[in-house]
Amino acid sequence: KLHNMVQELKGNIRVFCRVRPILPKEATASIAYPDRRDHKEIVLSSSSESATGQERKEVWNFSFDRVFEPDSTQAEVFEEVSQLAQSCVDGYNVCIFAYGQTGSGKSFTMEGGPTESTAGMIPRAVEQVFSVAEELKSKGWEYKMEGQFLEIYNETINDLLGKDEFDKKKHEIKHDKSGTRVTDIVTIPLRSATQVRSLLAIAQSRRTVAATLMNERSSRSHSVFTLKIQGNNTHTGETCDGSLNLVDLAGSERLKESGAANDKDRLKETQSINKSLSALGDVIAALGEKGEKGEKHIPYRNSKLTYLLQNSLSGNSKTLMILNVSPLAVHLGESLCSLRFATKVN
Ligand code: ADP
Repeated sequence: KLHNMVQELKGNIRVFCRVRPILPKEATASIAYPDRRDHKEIVLSSSSESATGQERKEVWNFSFDRVFEPDSTQAEVFEEVSQLAQSCVDGYNVCIFAYGQTGSGKSFTMEGGPTESTAGMIPRAVEQVFSVAEELKSKGWEYKMEGQFLEIYNETINDLLGKDEFDKKKHEIKHDKSGTRVTDIVTIPLRSATQVRSLLAIAQSRRTVAATLMNERSSRSHSVFTLKIQGNNTHTGETCDGSLNLVDLAGSERLKESGAANDKDRLKETQSINKSLSALGDVIAALGEKGEKGEKHIPYRNSKLTYLLQNSLSGNSKTLMILNVSPLAVHLGESLCSLRFATKVN
């Protein structure tokens, strides 16, 4: 009961944390993730030697709605996400974000691998939405679904399913009575869950092409997969409108000042990533406070990402942030930054 009340106060915002496993190539690295707790808490620690030769240990604790250990499977993570994802069929606007430094497991969590067991939240969520829609057919519901997939890079929208070269078409965000629209963006009618997997593959190859122009572009941009779903009930005449937004955020790592200073493009990238990630944090934090104190100004316009998702973050909406962290000691600083970001929105 209390937990439900807290959920309501938080305005339907939940935050999960997922620690990725140690990869085979990291087998000998030292870790900053010493022990397991219950599924709500994560502990990080570091030990170092002081000048006098004594061992100094530092420990940090953070709480979440749910923590996933390194050995948790994609299916286990999805089990916690599936209710939320399928509520778009009931007319909710759902946003799921993956936040963390590059290499922390965001893409693995969202898109995942090519096999059934490694498939990530996007294919699983879409499959779930299709199967729920199918079940509701017997109650008279008919659904129309469409998908779009875009990236936001340096505060510019690129169409990951478009035919034109990136940056050739200027895409603008429009909010009107019928919802949010991105101009000139390719919108694909979705008929099956398998079709979505091929869309992911197309988007992936377009990003790879762009990556030859710009190093590791995908980690420097936000990718937003959106499924829009419109239902009408042929028995009762009811209608409903929902959406599912699955967002793989740009890497949250801070760039070493010296490196950035030498590279203007990189500096600009970093600034726009920092700006948009902090804008997202501000919006989610403000939405959480709104639940506690009534009406409040929500600063959606401070970044393309929050402006795009304005309608999906407000009103009839549910938001989940999955915080991805690396278990390695070398990444401790970045992991702590990510975890502190999460405390702000949690
Ligand atoms: P990011 O998108 O945050 O940059 P990735 O998803 O690409 O990070 O993950 C980095 C590497 O770790 C990839 O090789 C990925 O396959 C692997 N990885 C991440 N999370 C897991 C996991 N839960 N299980 C197995 N491998 C993982």
